[in-house]
Amino acid sequence: MVQELTHFVDGKRLPGTSGKFGDVYDPNTGEVQARVPLADKAETEAIIANAEAAQKQWAAFNPQKRARVLMKFLQLVQEEMDSLARLLSSEHGKTIPDAKGDIQRGLEVIEFALGAPHLLKGEYTESAGTGIDVYSMRQPLGVVAGITPFNFPAMIPLWKAGPALAAGNAFILKPSERDPSVPLRLAELFTEAGLPGGVFNVVNGDKEVVDVLLTDDRVKAVGFVGSTPIAQYIYETAARHGKRAQCFGGAKNHAIVMPDADLDQVADALIGAGYGSAGERCMAISVAVPVGQDTADALVAKLTERIGALRIGRSDDEKADFGPLVSRDALDRVNDYIGIGVDEGADLVVDGRGFVLDGHESGFFAGATLFDRVTPDMRIYREEIFGPVLLIARAADYEQALALPTEHDYGNGVAIFTRDGDTARDFTHRVEVGMVGVNVPIPVPIAYHTFGGWKRSGFGDLNQHGPDSFRFYTKTKTVTQRWPSGTKEHATDHFVIPTMN
Ligand code: NAD
Repeated sequence: MVQELTHFVDGKRLPGTSGKFGDVYDPNTGEVQARVPLADKAETEAIIANAEAAQKQWAAFNPQKRARVLMKFLQLVQEEMDSLARLLSSEHGKTIPDAKGDIQRGLEVIEFALGAPHLLKGEYTESAGTGIDVYSMRQPLGVVAGITPFNFPAMIPLWKAGPALAAGNAFILKPSERDPSVPLRLAELFTEAGLPGGVFNVVNGDKEVVDVLLTDDRVKAVGFVGSTPIAQYIYETAARHGKRAQCFGGAKNHAIVMPDADLDQVADALIGAGYGSAGERCMAISVAVPVGQDTADALVAKLTERIGALRIGRSDDEKADFGPLVSRDALDRVNDYIGIGVDEGADLVVDGRGFVLDGHESGFFAGATLFDRVTPDMRIYREEIFGPVLLIARAADYEQALALPTEHDYGNGVAIFTRDGDTARDFTHRVEVGMVGVNVPIPVPIAYHTFGGWKRSGFGDLNQHGPDSFRFYTKTKTVTQRWPSGTKEHATDHFVIPTMN
């Protein structure tokens, strides 16, 4: 039976009234398993109004009290980890261990946000002038919105909501319409944890909802994660309407493989980073850059052997290395790019097209693909494929290898594999990419550092989680004060702002 999903408003599930719906698939079978309501302008405006009314009460909680609600939420999600992971996997198609990782990496940012009492402390200068003290405080923005992608339906909403809520904002989440069930369940758990109604809301929808969030004056900030064209649109539109915006886009992450690296370790790392979660990770490695012909030949042989041993299966198959892609469109896109790569003259070493899982002929499965001798002018190199396709772009020397990620339009993540400290240090210093791994294939920073790509992978000037997230979700107020006794004591002193006199 096709389940009908809802929005989540004022602490409870709310059926849609627009009459518009989107289909949510089981990617294992290709069948529709749920319908998600797509809100219209009026529904979205009502949610904003509700959030605005709730925010003041929430901001009046002291930071420690807010953190305690998040602590309870953390505990409730941990207790429900297994069923949440199954739900996530059933709509997304990632394996259960990957789904648990998705939730866990989100919870780590909630753990970080428990430090709100400390993170919201301001600054104080005693005697900035005679009898004058100056202090700064951080105050919430009000109502803020998060617009998130399909590929991490728990982690990215929590990366945004955790710091936003801890700082005293009300949060409106517009999750991906492809896998909205986990965000809805997280909303219920927030309420169960003691979050007042209206403080965390889920509005399902498409561009119509997003455009209301981007233009309504009551929404003060927008955090986005998704593809680059939409990230740029959201950044520009939100900025034009006077809002703060941080928008993270697509990626083409390289792994440089130096001749001194342990190639077995590298091949294992690239199989996980290139094909894990069917390549649907913004930090997936999609280009390996072996330095020197011997390194390249050996690496291609080791990868080919390992690809042959990969198990592609249902997302709930415990032995599967990866499951299906999220949608038929995603599968078609990946197959189209493989055709483009062949036409462009890249060397197709392993062809993942046409993979069929027995009994799941209509599922969205793609096999693993490996291309060798890919060059920077090819579309398969320049554009994001977002599927289980790994490219080998051979480099003659270190400088040529360094130039590839540095000159690429995207600058999300990059890795270097080497045993040489000098090379690693030079690389981390010079590469034009936001997140760098040294012998670490997927360098997603830990929650108390900060996540963000450069160039066309990120628009806006503050990153996600870490201290940046509290800066993004608060505004600074600075108070300059003098008390009567100070005035009497220093009756002859003057404190004035700088003037021509
Ligand atoms: P997407 O851009 O299609 O969708 C992201 C969100 O934007 C969704 O909520 C969607 O409903 C909304 N949206 C889509 N089209 C819109 C439009 N025309 N106007 C307004 N809103 C619109 O991305 P996706 O396919 O869900 O996610 C995959 C993409 O996200 C990949 O490009 C991946 O690299 C990127 N991603 C980036 C990061 C990062 O941190 N840089 C993390 C995860 C995913």
